[in-house]
Amino acid sequence: MNMVKIENRSGLRGELKRNEPMAKHTSWRAGGCADRAYVPADLDDLRAFLVSLPQHEPVCLVGLGSNLLVRDGGLRGTVIFTHGALKLIRLEGNAIYAEAGVPSPRVARFAAMHEFAGAEFMAGIPGTVGGALAMNAGCYGGETWNIIESVTTLDRAGQQRQRTRANYDIGYRTVVLKAGNGGSGAGGEAAVAAHAARLTPHEEWFIAARFKLPRGDSVKSRATITQLLERRIATQPLNQPNAGSVFRNPQGDYAARLIEACGLKGMVRGGALISDKHANFIVNTGSARASDIEALIAAAHDAVMQRFGIDLEREVRIVGDPA
Ligand SMILES: Cc1cc2nc3c(=O)[nH]c(=O)nc-3n(C[C@H](O)[C@H](O)[C@H](O)COP(=O)(O)OP(=O)(O)OC[C@H]3O[C@@H](n4cnc5c(N)ncnc54)[C@H](O)[C@@H]3O)c2cc1C
Repeated sequence: MNMVKIENRSGLRGELKRNEPMAKHTSWRAGGCADRAYVPADLDDLRAFLVSLPQHEPVCLVGLGSNLLVRDGGLRGTVIFTHGALKLIRLEGNAIYAEAGVPSPRVARFAAMHEFAGAEFMAGIPGTVGGALAMNAGCYGGETWNIIESVTTLDRAGQQRQRTRANYDIGYRTVVLKAGNGGSGAGGEAAVAAHAARLTPHEEWFIAARFKLPRGDSVKSRATITQLLERRIATQPLNQPNAGSVFRNPQGDYAARLIEACGLKGMVRGGALISDKHANFIVNTGSARASDIEALIAAAHDAVMQRFGIDLEREVRIVGDPA
C-alpha cells in the first residue's frame, strides 16, 4: 500500500497516502484515485496538516463517502478523511458534542442511550456528522440542522470558529456559508467578515457539532430507530453498493416516482443499474465505473426532463476528472 507516515515531517502524526483508490472510501465502491489522502491523528494534527499545505492545494474533506462519486480519472489535490480520526463523542451539559468523523448512526444511538429524543432519524443515514452538516442530511421529517445548537469549523489557515445556524443559508440538502457573516476570530469583526466573505464552503470545514435535543425516553427512541431501519431495509436496495437518493425530490413530488414513470427501473450501463427496488437509487452490481453511474444519472435526468419538464437536481456530489 502507498502509505507514508509523515511523523518526522513538521511533527505531523497522521498518515499520508498517495494515489489512494477512492473506491475504498465511497459507498458506491467505484471511481478513481486521490493524488494524496491524509488521515489525521486528531484535531490538532488536522490543523497542523492544513496549515502545512501549499496555499493552492485543492482540499476535499471526506467522511464515509456515502454521498460522493469520484470520477474515474481521480481527484487532484488532497483528500482528508475524518472517519476514524475525528471520533470524539461526549455529553456536554445538556447537549451532545460530536466530532465531524463520528458516524451519524452513532449519534442516534448515543442520544437514545442518554435519554434525548429527536436524533433517531440519523440512525439510517450512513455518513458522518461532518457529511450530515454539509448536506443537511435528513429523513422521515428530521433534518440535521434542526437539532444543531452550534458547530465548530476550521479553515486552511488553522483558524477555528464557533458558528450557528444563523451563519448559514440552510435548505433541503443545501448548506451555504453566508457571505460577510461574522466569526469569532482574533482579527476584529471587519477582518473576520472580510475573510468569511471570501470563503467558499470548501475552504472552511466542519470539525464538530453540538446537538441540542429535548429529553426523551430511551426505550421509545430505540424502538423508533428499529422501526426506521426496518422501513429502510424494506424499501431500499441496501445489499448493493449505492449512495442513497441520487436526486433531490422536486417540490410536491418524488424523484423515484418520476424516474419509475419513465420506465427506467432496471436500466443498465456497464456495472451500474437503476434499482428495481427504488428508482432514485443507482447500485453498483460489482464492476461499475464512475462513468457508468454518471451515465445513468444523466439518462434519468434527461428522461424526466423530456417527459415531465422537471429539471431534477442531484443530491449526490460528483468530484474529480473523467478518465
Ligand atoms: C443507503 C444510503 C441511504 C442514505 N439515506 C439518506 C437519507 O435518508 N437522508 C440523507 O440526507 N442522506 C442519505 N444518504 C446520503 C448520505 O449518507 C448523507 O448525505 C450523509 O450525510 C453523507 O455523509 P458522509 O460522511 O458520507 O459524507 P461524504 O459523502 O463523505 O461527503 C459528502 C459531501 O460533504 C462534504 N463533507 C464531508 N465531511 C465534511 C466536513 N467535515 N466539513 C465540510 N464538508 C464535508 C464532502 O466534501 C462532500 O461534498 C444515504 C446514503 C446511503 C448510501
